[in-house]
Amino acid sequence: MSEGVHGEQATGRVTHSLLRLSTAMRSQAWEWAESAGLTPTQGEILVLLMQRKHPLRLGEIARETALTAATASDAVSTLEAKGLVEKRRTTEDARALAVKLTARGRSAAKRAQQWPEFLAEAIGTLRNDEQVLFYRTMIKMIRQLEMQGDIPSHRMCVTCKYFEVSKNPKKAAHRCAALDLAIGDVDLRLDCPVQEEADSLTQKKVWKIFAQAAV
Ligand code: SF4
Repeated sequence: MSEGVHGEQATGRVTHSLLRLSTAMRSQAWEWAESAGLTPTQGEILVLLMQRKHPLRLGEIARETALTAATASDAVSTLEAKGLVEKRRTTEDARALAVKLTARGRSAAKRAQQWPEFLAEAIGTLRNDEQVLFYRTMIKMIRQLEMQGDIPSHRMCVTCKYFEVSKNPKKAAHRCAALDLAIGDVDLRLDCPVQEEADSLTQKKVWKIFAQAAV
């Protein structure tokens, strides 16, 4: 059998496996959300607001969750009616509104963060080296989906101007010039508060090295 046919089979099987995982995630997310009187989208917005630690404008919420502006606005209005978020004028622009968690919203967000525990349990059964490789592969998938325009950009190490990529992460760690830290593959961040985007040429160069490195 030719390499091309093998490649196509592998692509099909990986895609099928991801769809199976997404079915499990969707059903678990709905189960949790229904028990909390929310929708998965509302739960996701609560978790986003908790992770960012500061109020977000509606446009930012829509961008980060890959929702349309109308869907994000509806979800936020429902959360506001439930007393889980409130809208405040921003300090930078008195006409703009930003959304923040209320105390009840913070408690709900903490509970919402727990629904993926079933996944953590399954991932925990993998060997350590399998988990590291899985994480690296997920980062490559997430970055590829970002480049295809299918998901919004994350504040990731691999696109950060402070990231110094290793050509051989097994032998030498990557580095973060901002925090003066050695970074192994498993330490790569997906949502770093001090990330700053590198220029596109640097991003391309770093990505080429990261994507082709021997692991
Ligand atoms: S600043 Fe954050 S995102 Fe950038 S390289 Fe350092 S840890 Fe990674």
